[in-house]
Amino acid sequence: MAIYEPLESDGPRRRLRLRSPVDLEPIGEIECANSRDVERAVERARKAQVDWEALSFDERARYMEKVSRLLLDRCDEVVDKVIEETGKARAEAVSMEVFSSLDSLCYYAKNTKKFLRPHKKRLHGLMGFAKQLRIVYKPLGVIGIITPWNGPFILAMNQTVQALMAGNAVVLKGSEVTPFSTKLVGDFFEEAGLPDGVLQVLMGDGATGAALVESGVDKISFTGSVVTGRKVAEACGRQLIPCSLELGGKDAMIVCADADIERAANGALIGSCMNTGQYCCGTERIYVVDSVCDEFVEKVVAGAAKLRQGDSGEFDVGAIFWDRQLEIVERHVDDAVAKGATVRVGGRRNPALKGLFYEPTVLTDVNHSMDVMTEETFGPVISIMKVPDEEEALRLANESCYGLNGNVWTQDKDKALRLAARMETGAVCVNDMALTYGVPEAPFGGRKNSGIGQVNGKMGVRGYCHTLPIIIDRFGGKQLASGYPYSFKKIEGMQKLMKLLWGSPIGRWLS
Ligand code: NAD
Repeated sequence: MAIYEPLESDGPRRRLRLRSPVDLEPIGEIECANSRDVERAVERARKAQVDWEALSFDERARYMEKVSRLLLDRCDEVVDKVIEETGKARAEAVSMEVFSSLDSLCYYAKNTKKFLRPHKKRLHGLMGFAKQLRIVYKPLGVIGIITPWNGPFILAMNQTVQALMAGNAVVLKGSEVTPFSTKLVGDFFEEAGLPDGVLQVLMGDGATGAALVESGVDKISFTGSVVTGRKVAEACGRQLIPCSLELGGKDAMIVCADADIERAANGALIGSCMNTGQYCCGTERIYVVDSVCDEFVEKVVAGAAKLRQGDSGEFDVGAIFWDRQLEIVERHVDDAVAKGATVRVGGRRNPALKGLFYEPTVLTDVNHSMDVMTEETFGPVISIMKVPDEEEALRLANESCYGLNGNVWTQDKDKALRLAARMETGAVCVNDMALTYGVPEAPFGGRKNSGIGQVNGKMGVRGYCHTLPIIIDRFGGKQLASGYPYSFKKIEGMQKLMKLLWGSPIGRWLS
């Protein structure tokens, strides 16, 4: 049964009915914002942005602090809504959605002022005697933020906080699969008294997202699939507006012979099954060096068999959030089995549960002819491939059109750093699953098909600004560009100067 289905509509907007993946019961209906609604929202945002930009960082930060207090008080409301829409485990709803949102709100409330403080820069060479560079960060204006369903609250909240703290207004559109969780982001800011129009949350599907991309916003922050990301990039390219694209992945895990195997096996379980495997930086391919592979597989199989899957109460692995995704997971596992993979645990829908549940699954004897090792699976599937050595593991890890994150497991720190640096991916974690999105100090973004641009932290906040260089006189300096009238004498002088500056060691040092 489909998680959302179109309803008859006699008005100007499409209507959708939503079901919970937990029990497939209806949980609500939405009206999709049409292009006129989107245009109006952007107009309102543009007006509201002027006064919002005029506030100080401390004043803006106070709204973030109010939202964080509201969120702390009403954590359960968010958790329950996220669970109703996604069926993820309660522990994940608390840690991924609420804990991380609080961290984001407080981190950017505290640090944005420092990241965007205007500053001076000394210029090199002769120019430095006469001129000085000042850098000023100006908000871009109105930001369109488009987010997916796998982290419906945090992925919306995190980018919204950064864009707002930088002085922008935001028009946010969450996924049609999880609109009510994303709407809560807007509700909290409204309750915190955010001025009208500074943040607007639109409900809608892909057509609403496409309308937002075309609505005259100053930047699109997109998180979602490669297929949609490409369309968004094309539309932004045509309009010459910037976009950041946080797209899908196929993260590799490399387990070296000297790894702590117990710890690595636990890392594989959480890396592949957290958020029911629907984590953009989920561990989707595991390459284990021959000498420790059997021990590793044994531990992973034992651990996976103990994972509790459920639809209520205390459990480890929840539902697949969307029937479309469940079909992809089934197709990948079936394809792998048809090509010779062995199912060690799971490998099927969970027959004991009514909703969209796929059992935590361990596959061995996999290889790169199988979709499960090359395309994003986005399900609780642990695919383990035995390799002769670390070099082969690295070669296979890099043999992918994706490059979002990855992880290396070894007790030799120098080797870990060497291998990590050679991985063709956006970020690497050593002896841990991919944590990078939750570490704002680390720039986050994919390589290859996994995206363009980096978000989060200083770089992320600055990405919502124009970096304006202002070049100004030092010591009441004089105009350097007063070249007229040209003369042969001036050309000769310039040639002598070039020889002096770059033709001698002292000159090169000076310049
Ligand atoms: P999706 O691309 O189908 O949808 C993402 C959002 O884009 C939704 O809000 C959707 O309504 C909207 N959309 C659809 N068509 C559009 C169009 N033509 N123009 C503009 N917007 C449009 O992705 P999804 O299935 O919702 O999300 C899962 C994907 O997101 C996975 O590939 C996952 O890896 C990726 N993801 C990446 C990150 C990251 O940070 N790199 C984080 C989470 C999820």
